[in-house]
Amino acid sequence: MSATKDLTTEAAGVTPAAAAVEPVLDVDGVTLQYKTKEHLITATYRVSFQTYPADRFVILGPSGCGKSTLLKGIAGYLHPVEGEMRLKGNVIKDPGPDRCMVFQEFDQLLPWKTVMGNITFALLNGGKCETQAEAREIAYEYIRKVKLDRFEDTFPHMLSGGMKQRVAIARAMAMEPDVLLMDEPFAALDALTRRQMQEELLQLWDDTRFTVIFVTHSIEEAVIVGSRILIMSPHPGQVKAEVNAHLHTHDDVGGEDFRALQGRIHDMIFADRVLEEETQPQHV
Ligand code: ADP
Ligand code: MG
Repeated sequence: MSATKDLTTEAAGVTPAAAAVEPVLDVDGVTLQYKTKEHLITATYRVSFQTYPADRFVILGPSGCGKSTLLKGIAGYLHPVEGEMRLKGNVIKDPGPDRCMVFQEFDQLLPWKTVMGNITFALLNGGKCETQAEAREIAYEYIRKVKLDRFEDTFPHMLSGGMKQRVAIARAMAMEPDVLLMDEPFAALDALTRRQMQEELLQLWDDTRFTVIFVTHSIEEAVIVGSRILIMSPHPGQVKAEVNAHLHTHDDVGGEDFRALQGRIHDMIFADRVLEEETQPQHV
């Protein structure tokens, strides 16, 4: 079935429905930097956006534009040199179980623990559960949701890359964070598994309506996964635009609307670069 709705509305800041709702996350003029011995690297420059409940909020931009840095900031590992990030109105100062991260790497699971053990460990240590029995019950619910119920006693090294990512997603979702942070979670998967994982994520979202911030450098993935897409410029990352992309599915890939949106997003990301090239002095 092809579902296309509200395809290409550029939202200047806030979606209409969001106006009456408090944001889960408010990123307000945030500049993030790395200080090394010799250099000061500005990774993101005055980035602002709001994420609302049940948003599938995609941060899209080329490699090196500061997407992972932004997630590190939201997770509480890096502090802004300018601006503020607020989670449910509270300034983010430290990491906490109200924000859970899923990474690209397949080695994010504890290798000495089973699928079940990885999730119960997070639930018990994150303060979500007090007893093993309670943790196992919640873990099992999420193991089922990611379709790994035959693998609960399996160790990570016996799992495929896609299965490991499912465990990482189940572990993060089991914590029921205010916002799920996903940093290119499917980028290291083969094309078919990646597609399957995108579909499964959308099914999970349909089931639970969690709030997710999903980072990618793939325009196609952004359009499929996202309900809203924040478009960032190349390094140092600045917000270029925000685009609504509700309900573009895999069925739409290659279709006219889908390709037009992809093309417009591409132009937005690289607009300055094109302008720069056009204004270079011409040598004959
Ligand atoms: P993205 O995730 O969009 O590919 P990153 O957030 O990883 O980009 O990086 C943004 C910029 O910050 C890049 O120029 C990168 O080289 C720099 N950077 C990232 N991590 C560090 C670090 N630990 N120390 C210094 N510079 C870093
Ligand atoms: Mg990154």
